[in-house]
Amino acid sequence: MTDSAPPLIEAVGLCKYYGAFTAVQDVSFAVPQGSVTAFLGPNGAGKSTTMKMLTGFLAPSAGTASIAGIDVDSDRIAAACQLGYLPENGPLYPEMTPAQQLAYAGRVHGLSPARLKDALDRVASSCRIDEVWHKPIRKLSKGFRQRVGLAQAILHDPKVLILDEPTAGLDPNQIQLVRDLIKSLAKDKTVLLSTHILQEVEAIADRVILISEGKLRFSGTPAELAAGGSLEARFRELTKGVAA
Ligand code: ADP
Repeated sequence: MTDSAPPLIEAVGLCKYYGAFTAVQDVSFAVPQGSVTAFLGPNGAGKSTTMKMLTGFLAPSAGTASIAGIDVDSDRIAAACQLGYLPENGPLYPEMTPAQQLAYAGRVHGLSPARLKDALDRVASSCRIDEVWHKPIRKLSKGFRQRVGLAQAILHDPKVLILDEPTAGLDPNQIQLVRDLIKSLAKDKTVLLSTHILQEVEAIADRVILISEGKLRFSGTPAELAAGGSLEARFRELTKGVAA
């Protein structure tokens, strides 16, 4: 990570209102190049909503989001080229095999046949999905499905990865595989991943952004968040005991 490099993910004054309800209020942060940043908060804190605004899937009520310096709202396609997004319950077609799903996603990204073949070989091995390559996605375990979702997110080799609860619902072995995969992807990508699990922060992140009830509560390193005490105590203090 270099301090002088521009942030690859930036939120400035992001707000999202659903009628009279405020889901996200004036959230600003920057994710530095080369970091793995945990986007931490209790359930319902506004993590998914913020991620959807960062990735251009949801228009902000106010504020701006940029990826690699590109404004997501005004130039969504250019921003999307720099970005891989794993939404909660990733958009996989259950009747397709990983081979079909990923070939389809590659064509949507406009990869040429030669680049697509290289990309498919690369993600099949890096995401360790070769063994299920020709099985219908509906027959795969949640762990394999999540790795197919990750493969789809990195197919076009983006600089930035935004992952919404990538280990949710996985068993401990599957969690370890996905965490290892994220760590290896982070060698040449900037990663923002949402979680409500403190162990995830300790296991994987070098930065933390904490939100609760739609508001930014903390941005810094895990050690700064713990501030000489425990992450759990500070999490409780900053979220005022909002149930996770
Ligand atoms: P998180 O990802 O942190 O669990 P979300 O971003 O999914 O939180 O949700 C934040 C808040 O916004 C929650 O109270 C949720 O119920 C509410 N919310 C999310 N989407 C909608 C929607 N489409 N309409 C109304 N409220 C919503």
